[in-house]
Amino acid sequence: MENVCGWIAQAGNSAERDRLSGRQKADWLVIGAGITGLCAAHTLAEMHPQARIVVVDRQRAAQGASARNSGFVVGHEHPATDELLGHPGFAGYEVDTEISRVASAEVRQRIVRHGIECDFRDSGYYFAVSDPAKLTHVEEKLKTLNAVGASAQFLQGEQLARKLGTRHYQAAIWCGNGNALLQPAKYVKGLLEALPENVTLYENTDITGLERVGQGQVRANSVDGSIEAKQVLVCLNAFIPRSGIDDSGTFPMELSASLTRPLSDKEFQATGAVEPWGVLSTRPLGATVRLTPDRRVMIRNTAEYRSRDLTNRELVLRRQHHVLGLQRRFPFLGEQDIQYTWTGHLSASRSGQPFFAKVEEGVYAVAGCNGSGVARGSLWGRLLAQMSSGGSSPILESVMSRAQPGWLPPKPLLDIGAMLRMRVEAVRARTEI
Ligand SMILES: Cc1cc2nc3c(=O)[nH]c(=O)nc-3n(C[C@H](O)[C@H](O)[C@H](O)COP(=O)(O)OP(=O)(O)OC[C@H]3O[C@@H](n4cnc5c(N)ncnc54)[C@H](O)[C@@H]3O)c2cc1C
Repeated sequence: MENVCGWIAQAGNSAERDRLSGRQKADWLVIGAGITGLCAAHTLAEMHPQARIVVVDRQRAAQGASARNSGFVVGHEHPATDELLGHPGFAGYEVDTEISRVASAEVRQRIVRHGIECDFRDSGYYFAVSDPAKLTHVEEKLKTLNAVGASAQFLQGEQLARKLGTRHYQAAIWCGNGNALLQPAKYVKGLLEALPENVTLYENTDITGLERVGQGQVRANSVDGSIEAKQVLVCLNAFIPRSGIDDSGTFPMELSASLTRPLSDKEFQATGAVEPWGVLSTRPLGATVRLTPDRRVMIRNTAEYRSRDLTNRELVLRRQHHVLGLQRRFPFLGEQDIQYTWTGHLSASRSGQPFFAKVEEGVYAVAGCNGSGVARGSLWGRLLAQMSSGGSSPILESVMSRAQPGWLPPKPLLDIGAMLRMRVEAVRARTEI
């Protein structure tokens, strides 16, 4: 079985760019051509039209997690119990939500400015559960979400089944006003193809390390060449240690997802011909599911802390897990109906907050999207570009104030702790996969 991302297959490839070769110089170097790196490059190009800005990626650009995610544009996170209105964590939740709302607006602005066709749907999404016990404090959650600018509504039973076309879910909070869905590979491909002329992109260029050279320059080395720049922006997400930044307080996770064929007319009518939707779980390891505008079902119901990538054989087992999740929701779908199965890496932190920092003179980095990097990555790219240009703004200050990813124990304690935590979370989410 091949590891093929359905979103990328549908979006198609951009023209291939050269790899970096020889010794080069630039004013700005951006490492990583995902949403974050590409948004950083756009902002730098707008701010410094005369500058030479170079972006490098170790594989094809715009084909990492930024293309492989579930396409939720997160403006409002599901509030935890201690973040509810009147609880001590609410103040932090309010700041985080303000950041997310600005981030979500950033996505909309990029889509409009660059004319990106990415099936953007400003229709909100659901925090839905199969086991009603997994959705507690409903009234308080509605009040909390509404207090931070969301439009939130509780649905259950028949009313919910009519919206989703499945009776699997028993209760949900629909949350709109800032929350949206898009086709991720089309969004990030749109960012890539809109890069202006003063941005040069090199693909298949694996940066193996950074070193400081004379006159305040930093050199990034790859197998076939090197590039020196005064300012380097590290936008590597889960791969941040590859730049030599080992103490970001973030750790990688590997997720897997499948996308089915389009539902037939008969199957679609049987669901009640519902509008496209997206469901997030209230549990960290519960399933993320979408019914897409072209009537396919996407499910992402595995997330693992791993020290090495999943093999294709292991991915076959993950796909069986996807089948289980699909059949719970749409019993007529089986393994034969899956057209694409893939993996992707995200960067997580213990606190749920990012690493966002000036690492040393001329080196700036961000990681720790914690599963909401479509919107946040779009904003962080802009803010990292602003910070490295000496700028400041209230939203940059808010991001900096919250950028505390939390302490991680050294390996092997981290490996053991993360594995145990994942097992506990998997048990807690077992009704929601
Ligand atoms: C399955 C899945 C589902 C998700 N669902 C959602 C969702 O619904 N909503 C949401 O907001 N977020 C979601 N996320 C998270 C989201 O995808 C990420 O937060 C976001 O894509 C981060 O963008 P980025 O540009 O920072 O990183 P990436 O897209 O990971 O880009 C980093 C780039 O760096 C490159 N790179 C790595 N090493 C090197 C090197 N040594 N040299 C040069 N380049 C290198 C990689 O090839 C990659 O292109 C999901 C993630 C996954 C995996």
